[in-house]
Amino acid sequence: MNNVLAVDIGGTHFRTGLFDEQGRRLLVLEGDTDRVAGRDWMLNQLAARCRELMAQTDAPVKACGLSFGGPVDFRSQSVTSVHSAGWKGFELGKWMQESLGIPCRLDNDANAGALGEYHYGAGRGAKSMVYITISTGIGSGIVYDGKLLRGKDYMAGELGHIPVSDSGARCSCGGRGCLESFSSGGAIESRARDWAERRPERVARMVELSGGGEITAKGLMQAAAEGDVAATHILRETTRWLARGLLMVIRILNPDVIVLGGGVAQSGVILLDSLHTFLDELASPTITYSTEIVTATLGNYSPLYGAAAMGLDISRD
Ligand SMILES: [Zn+2]
Repeated sequence: MNNVLAVDIGGTHFRTGLFDEQGRRLLVLEGDTDRVAGRDWMLNQLAARCRELMAQTDAPVKACGLSFGGPVDFRSQSVTSVHSAGWKGFELGKWMQESLGIPCRLDNDANAGALGEYHYGAGRGAKSMVYITISTGIGSGIVYDGKLLRGKDYMAGELGHIPVSDSGARCSCGGRGCLESFSSGGAIESRARDWAERRPERVARMVELSGGGEITAKGLMQAAAEGDVAATHILRETTRWLARGLLMVIRILNPDVIVLGGGVAQSGVILLDSLHTFLDELASPTITYSTEIVTATLGNYSPLYGAAAMGLDISRD
């Protein structure tokens, strides 16, 4: 039986894994990303761990899938991220292929996460699925019949940057009114900072649950789950816009399922309940839908599983 390697490079953690032909995880090695140490440090770590995993199996390792936590040019198999020094324009796919001596394929973590959930997570059994990952920003991937929808310029599925309003804060993409600037973890934290400045007496529980410092999206969601009034208000403001974004997705694609991943979605039922309240408010009496909205089941591992799926895909070529 053949095996494949999977690599997930994130801003805080990185993971390398060995998977079998059924997509079962055999071994995973994890580490903390050292942003200061830079690109070459990361490349050395990845190559060493991949070789370590290859040495652990007697089965042939046929291919490697790579997920990068930032913008990727799929055509040239290179990283286009400007946020981490040394990565811009780097042909990561080619580098890994030469380093490991096996075929490799690179994609961004939203697309990889989508493939992971589609094949092994909450999207299993669906024909069409939209994966939306909500963490500091909002990323997404659209899978139809097992394939990612890429579009003419390989830019399909940039749902974080659909304009839901003609106002709002400037988005990370440079645009204005993007869904990401209203409903991401970053937007949640920005609203919380605003509350902390204007009404510090109302944010005590959120601060406590965030570890005593700046309010984090995670701490805020926990406070909202407890019924904290200010946290609930911020959650509702966030999901009100998210519901608009999801309704656009439903109206355009009407997928079998929308899977919400990323740190904010890990709050689960509190997010889904609030979303459904606003989706009900926006509902049309004549245009109905049965698209399900669920949270991801692979947690932080969606991109790693997706990378394995990418590796398996090319190993069959
Ligand atoms: Zn944007």
